Amino acid sequence: MKRDLARRLESVSPFDDPAPALEQYRTPADIAAHVVHVAAMQSDLDGRTVVDLGSGTGMLALAAAFGGPRAVVGVELDGEALERARENERQVDPPISIDWIEGDATTLPVCLDDATVVMNPPFGAQYGNRHADRAFLETAATIGAVSYSIHNEGSRSFVDRFVADHDGTVTHAYQAELEIPHQFEFHREERRTVDAEVFRVTWSG
Ligand code: SAH
Repeated sequence: MKRDLARRLESVSPFDDPAPALEQYRTPADIAAHVVHVAAMQSDLDGRTVVDLGSGTGMLALAAAFGGPRAVVGVELDGEALERARENERQVDPPISIDWIEGDATTLPVCLDDATVVMNPPFGAQYGNRHADRAFLETAATIGAVSYSIHNEGSRSFVDRFVADHDGTVTHAYQAELEIPHQFEFHREERRTVDAEVFRVTWSG
């Protein structure tokens, strides 16, 4: 199932003109397939409302849509990325349906407390905005019953502290290698591998 899903997600195209300040890196298809595989095994998708915070060109939302959720919502600040996400939605087979919302994922005006949140938020590594992912975790804690989030290497203690302060529990933590193509000027190599960490958190609030 996982390999098959990764193959289907290969067609999800990346950002045309990625904005460095928004940290627009597409999650690789195999990582998205892995996250969604774990979520399916935990019964976090079937019949649930899935919200992708900072959905970019749609990779995680599209991946989650294959797990039989009741609804999938992608929230993204950048209208151009959303356009691409809509195109990507039309490409995938079998057909799925996603609600795309243009807006700020850190001040989300939705009333939900039982969502499954998936996200690969900005890390804040490049612009001195350390832990830009904190505000995304705040939203996850507010609307989520459970969340899957991708963070940069060495985030474990930060995530543990945040989760403990918000009545959550880290139930799974694993490493993932993100293959990032050269896309910004400050990247010197053609491709590089970024070590990332993925966390599943249950929120009781
Ligand atoms: N989820 C996508 C994109 C990850 S890159 C994927 O997995 O491939 C991070 C995304 O968060 C970018 O698309 C960026 O535009 C978006 N973003 C950054 N700050 C945001 C905010 N405050 N609200 C909504 N989206 C935001």
